[in-house]
Amino acid sequence: MEIRKVGIVGAGQMGAGIAEVLAIGGYPVYLADVDEQQLERALATIAENLERSVEKQRLTPAEAKAARARISSGLGYEGFRDCQLAIEAAFEDEAVKRSILKKLCDVLPTDAIITTNTSTLSVTRLAAQTDRPPRFLGTHFMNPVQKLELVELIRGIATSEDTFRTVRDFILSLNKTPISAEDFPAFIVHRILMPMINEAIYALYEGVGSVISIDTAMKLGTHHPMGPLELADFIGLDTCLIAMHNLHEGLADTKYRPCPLLVKYVEAGWLGRKAGRGFYDYSGSEPVPTR
Ligand code: NAD
Repeated sequence: MEIRKVGIVGAGQMGAGIAEVLAIGGYPVYLADVDEQQLERALATIAENLERSVEKQRLTPAEAKAARARISSGLGYEGFRDCQLAIEAAFEDEAVKRSILKKLCDVLPTDAIITTNTSTLSVTRLAAQTDRPPRFLGTHFMNPVQKLELVELIRGIATSEDTFRTVRDFILSLNKTPISAEDFPAFIVHRILMPMINEAIYALYEGVGSVISIDTAMKLGTHHPMGPLELADFIGLDTCLIAMHNLHEGLADTKYRPCPLLVKYVEAGWLGRKAGRGFYDYSGSEPVPTR
């Protein structure tokens, strides 16, 4: 099947980033969210990013204008009626995703494919909530979507080979690199990344090092472009905690227990960059370590 128009549910960090990349790639996109302000913020961010791409000469003004014109948006599901692909990118909450999938199945053409951007939930279990498990797949884009080339493709147990190939070719058409991961909690990238971040928080909690020593150690000692605590703040500490909970529950192994300090920060609302405070304080012109 040829993918000509794509619908996205969830205009958060990921949904907005995916919409931007698809529109630049030439695909008409319908972006939906329950929150009107969130939609407005997403469209404003996309417009700013497109402008910046013109300034940096990555896009011509005409290309940027055409990309923006390919994005339509709304609170309802009507825009999905003529889509060949719907990408679910709402909160990492199974009940939320379940209700979205039901609504999508009601409006999408029967042969349309649905994918989920879930980081940690079972693709097979989400597929079972739909009327089309053979046409359901995980497409795990990375954050920021505009910059990172990788997309993990995760088959549910019932995903057909046709669906996998159609989506893989679609991802390749966006100049992204798809890799295949099995349907285990957190797939490949987060299975490795989240326990590393959690371990860095344990190192801080146990006093092995300060925020600066831990981040400097990993940047200069292993050539990571960001330290693990800086990265945790960037991803969002709530997202990191959910990922650790899902790994802990899904793999039933105590080695994945979330660090109590991570739990405390989330309870305090210190969620990282988006909250203005996490392992760093972002209220000034430069981030200042908080421990
Ligand atoms: P986010 O909180 O930035 O955005 C989620 C959006 O979903 C919000 O705009 C919210 O209003 C919307 N939403 C919630 N319920 C909805 C509903 N019923 N219908 C329509 N929209 C609804 O989250 P995010 O970081 O963009 O993550 C989205 C998904 O992508 C999650 O599954 C997450 O695990 C995954 N993911 C996140 C990252 C990351 O680094 N943030 C990376 C890869 C994958």
